[in-house]
Parts: sequence; structure tokens; C-alpha cells
Amino acid sequence: KLHNELQELKGNIRVYCRIRPFSPKEKDKNSTIEYVGDNGELVVVNPAKSGKEGRKMFKFNKVYGPTSTQGEVFSDIQPFIQSVLDGFNVCIFAYGPTGSGKTYTMMGPNGAREEQWGVNHRTLNDLFRISKSRETTFTYEISVQMVEIYNEKVRDLLSIDSSQKKYPFKFYFFVLLNLHTLGILSNSQSSGLTVPDAIMFPVKSTSDVLELMDAGMKNAAKSATALNERSSRSHSVLTIHVRGTDLKTNSSMRSSLHLVDLAGSERVDRSEVTGDRLKEAQHINKSLSALGDVIFALSQKNSHIPYRNSKLTQVLQSSLGNSLSLSSSLRPVCLIRTRKYVLLYEILFLPVM
Ligand code: ADP
Ligand code: MG
Repeated sequence: KLHNELQELKGNIRVYCRIRPFSPKEKDKNSTIEYVGDNGELVVVNPAKSGKEGRKMFKFNKVYGPTSTQGEVFSDIQPFIQSVLDGFNVCIFAYGPTGSGKTYTMMGPNGAREEQWGVNHRTLNDLFRISKSRETTFTYEISVQMVEIYNEKVRDLLSIDSSQKKYPFKFYFFVLLNLHTLGILSNSQSSGLTVPDAIMFPVKSTSDVLELMDAGMKNAAKSATALNERSSRSHSVLTIHVRGTDLKTNSSMRSSLHLVDLAGSERVDRSEVTGDRLKEAQHINKSLSALGDVIFALSQKNSHIPYRNSKLTQVLQSSLGNSLSLSSSLRPVCLIRTRKYVLLYEILFLPVM
């Protein structure tokens, strides 16, 4: 049964929407969400407009209401994790405006208790758990890369400075090190690596990866406040590379899983920002619309897929591949813009043969 379900899932883009609860500050606000259906329907009202005009219906694969738990969200992602170990490339995005809960869903809150663990943590646990359970028939080597895309520059968050290279496993060394800009390999298919210069760390457990991610996050910004500020304006991409060897036939396969916390998708009013902020906003708009264009081209089965229009789509190229199809009722996620007061975002899954 599971196999059949997986067959059905494979090759499809899934779009899920999660509505976060109001924060204490927002408690006095009225929800603009009128209806959440079990079938993935969501009706949003615009209080400024009356009647039909002010109503908009969205259709997702599923909508998680404000009381949904991290575990519930992950339960729908779980089958894709097994796909990665079966040799499929998978990409998981969190998309939405700043403050909508992307990082909460992907990473979990700071100092999360077990029930608050986010997608990344649960994914890694599953990867290691399943790979262990297959020990007698398969061996898996798992390694990670972590890059940030900021203003159309790709930076390695795990890079260490050359004088410290002899201590690659002392993660705390990474904290104050230089970020350098990386090139992207034009033919990502051959090696499976889209950012060949970014350090790839072999990992044996979830805690290895979490330690690395922690160091990587600290590397991304010099102070905690800067970290928050900056993380909303850059895309962070954690890539997990899996190499599996079938012990019977000695054949091996390679696959990758991208876990992406996208930059805030809010539309920036040009009159409000200038200088660096404007430049950042333009880069974010450009890369998110490039992502939308790639997904749309894939869903239309176009022969030309415009990967090269942004660094984000180049980095993710290997897992935004050939056999995507959108279920007919779904539109590419990037076309759905949310207003500031509509607290929702979408997560997108792109498993690819
Ligand atoms: P984003 O990464 O999209 O900018 P965050 O993940 O930082 O947004 O979330 C903004 C705030 O809302 C954080 O304080 C976070 O802890 C809280 N939050 C987000 N989603 C949830 C949720 N499902 N349940 C409880 N709190 C949440
Ligand atoms: Mg965030």
C-alpha cells in the first residue's frame, strides 16, 4: 500500500499551506481566513472589500490550521524522506512573507523540545533511522552542504579559514570565519553537486548536522539580531547528499535533498526603501519569480527550463528536474502573493526522478 502511495506521490509537486496562530501581539486582530476545508480549500476575506469581491479561494494539497503541530506537518513529508534513500532527488521549500513561520516550520523554535522539532530535524532523524534499518542490504554515506544566497551571491556557510582546515570537526571554529562567494557548476547532473566548492561534511547522526547548522547560522551573521534580520533576506539551503550502495550488486546511486528556508516573499513598496534594502528586495523578488518561472515551465513540460535566471534556481537545479507535474487545480506557488495581514505560507515539495 505504501509503495502505491509513493508511486502516486513521486514526480508531483505538492503545495501545502500552514496557517500560524496569532502571536500575543496580534491577539486583537480579526482573522482574514474564513474557511479551511479538509480538502485543501482555503477561503480568505479582505475586510476592505465586501461581498464576492473580497473573497478569494485558494486550493492546496492540504491546509494546516493554526492548531496544527510540527508532527502533523511532518507526517505528510515523511514519504519523501524514504524516496531520497531510494535514489530520488527531493526539494522542500518554505515560502512566505517574513514572520509567517517558515523558520519555525523548517528549523523549529530556538531550543525546541522534541514535539517542537521542525522539518529539518525530523527529516534527518528519519534519514538516519531508515538508513540504519537497511544496514544489511544497503550502506549509505550521508554528507551535508549549507549555503546562503544573498544578493545573488552564493556563500558557503560551513567554510573554514585555511589555517584551521586541519580541525574540520571542531565546529565552533566556523563561527567567525570569512564567507566567500562560490561558483556554481554549470552541469549539475554529472556530479550531483550544484555548488562544488562548498564544503561537504560527512555526517553520521542528526546531532552532527544540527551542530553544523548551528555553526552555519552563526556564520551567516555576526550577531543574533543581525541573524534574524539577515535570514529574512537571504535564502538558506541545506543540502543533504546521499550515496547508497547496494551490498548485493555493489551498484551505487546518488541523490540529494534540499531543505530551503526562502527569503521573505513580501512585496516591497519601492517608495519605502532605498539603498541596500532596495537592492536586497530586488534580488529577492528576482529569485522568487525565477523560481516560479522554473516551476511553471516544468509543469507545462516546456523544453526550455529557465534555470539560469537566478542563483537560487541554479543551486536547486538538480532537484527541480524533469518529471514534474502540477495537479491541474494547483497553480505555481509563487503566483500566490499574500497580504501582510494574511498569515499564511506555502510549503512546496518537489520530488524528482
Ligand atoms: P519566518 O521565518 O517566516 O520569518 P518565523 O518562523 O520566524 O517566521 O515565525 C515568526 C514568529 O511566529 C516566531 O516567533 C515563531 O516562533 C512564531 N511561529 C511561527 N509559526 C508558529 C506556529 N506554528 N506555532 C507557534 N508559533 C509560531
Ligand atoms: Mg525566518
